[in-house]
Amino acid sequence: MTAGQWIDGRASAGSSGESLEVINPATGAVIETVGLASPVDVDAAVCAADRAFREWSTAPPVVRSEVLSALAGRLTARAAEYASVESQQAGKPIRLATGFDVPGSIDNAAYFAGAARHLQGSAAAEWDGTHSSTVRREAIGVVGSIAPWNYPLQMAMWKMLPAVAAGNTVVLKPSELTPLTALMLAEDCAAAGMPPGVFNVLTGTGPVAGEALLAHPLVRMISFTGSTAVGHRVAEVAVAGLKRLHLELGGKAPFVVFDDADLDAAIQGAVAGSLINTGQDCTAATRAYIHSSKFADFVAGVADLMATVTLGDTSAETSDLGPLISGNQQQKVAAMVGRAVAGGARAVTGGEIPTGPLAVGSYYRPTLITGAAQDSEIVQEEVFGPVLVALPFDTDDEAIALANDTPYGLAASAWTTDVVRSQRASREIQAGCVWINDHIPIVSEMPHGGYKASGFGKDMSMYSFEEYTQVKHVSVDVSGVARKEWHRTIFRNPGPDRVV
Ligand code: NAD
Repeated sequence: MTAGQWIDGRASAGSSGESLEVINPATGAVIETVGLASPVDVDAAVCAADRAFREWSTAPPVVRSEVLSALAGRLTARAAEYASVESQQAGKPIRLATGFDVPGSIDNAAYFAGAARHLQGSAAAEWDGTHSSTVRREAIGVVGSIAPWNYPLQMAMWKMLPAVAAGNTVVLKPSELTPLTALMLAEDCAAAGMPPGVFNVLTGTGPVAGEALLAHPLVRMISFTGSTAVGHRVAEVAVAGLKRLHLELGGKAPFVVFDDADLDAAIQGAVAGSLINTGQDCTAATRAYIHSSKFADFVAGVADLMATVTLGDTSAETSDLGPLISGNQQQKVAAMVGRAVAGGARAVTGGEIPTGPLAVGSYYRPTLITGAAQDSEIVQEEVFGPVLVALPFDTDDEAIALANDTPYGLAASAWTTDVVRSQRASREIQAGCVWINDHIPIVSEMPHGGYKASGFGKDMSMYSFEEYTQVKHVSVDVSGVARKEWHRTIFRNPGPDRVV
């Protein structure tokens, strides 16, 4: 059994006496058995993080920067191992893990190594002429982070890096389905010189370890990435404990194709943008709104291209698409597609669980749906599978209104060669990211985060420091006068001639 916890710089099995099998969803094989955290382990991790906070938060930024640079180096040296474990635990094709998850994580570490040295408040000034003001951006304390299973390493990095770069300490609970690369990361943080207690990892379930972490009184901030449903629960606990809150929740990204768009580019972009990570991506293209003059060609083009995508052995370089994370997720996707079809929609391609050799894993065929109503479940709710719904529109106003017509607002794209339309779509679509003529790319320098029910707060970029720091105003009297002018509010005559 692998130790499931990393607490205070050491691996431990955890005190619950319970364990969990980590399953490769492509094969059903058990990869590892890990110990599960109990509330006692949560308390040990939070207390270790609290003890480590003072020294880490007061270390010169260059110290934190050097540790994160060394971490980027260790990840680079172990890149193939990280990619292999990530591919196995999350069912990712090895090409995706090697070409996206791991290099993205290394770049995040390198970025925050630099950013750690640029954390600044605003410049000093004497606003009233007698006091010199400075603004300090200070770390908050222990951050309790909870992450999902879709990009286990990247989500661990997005949570840990800005927090520790700013001087906080972190207790991370990765998804119980995919804890292995977060545990490798904890080892590498220690090897890179991060002091014990600065980054702790707990393998545990949401209801037990997750709830204990949320409610722990020494946790000053909660950073959660996951579903909007669990996000509601997280917000309740945060409000009760008056904790700072960062929420990265579900998405239902629209993909708007205007009549002047490059249709080949849009077809290619729709297939890649909807199938990335088998559609288990919070920013994946899910609702394609196509100008009615191009609708038939778009549907035919997407269906043809989806049919060329190869599902298969995730360790093979030739496989394009892996399984869903679990049999439960596979059943959920199949049920949502089933209800859409029963309600009058049509699966133009896909809409089925593959049989034959792929039946050992939780695979689902790339699926394109037409004929769904805008207010139906398949258009409004997150499917989190390889499913794209296509709907026609006639006017620009209608396209923008449809794009905004779900509770979510994480990401969107608009496809057009008209500069005015592109600017209008960027301005009017309510989402934390709007791509023009592409869908999915992210960079460490730019913020990622939602509007509306997709949450609030930003990951990556300098904006994430706003989440993981608090602002302090320091005001220094530079008049040297004992009896200040403002004392008039207390004393009738506060001036130098006042008789005491
Ligand atoms: P989930 O909400 O089921 O679980 C997320 C995490 O919360 C897991 O670690 C889980 O153990 C924990 N959890 C569950 N119940 C809890 C509770 N009561 N208290 C504390 N913790 C609890 O989400 P998931 O199925 O793991 O991930 C998929 C979801 O994540 C999708 O909705 C997706 O859109 C979202 N997501 C969002 C972003 C983003 O940046 N906005 C990124 C990735 C994934």
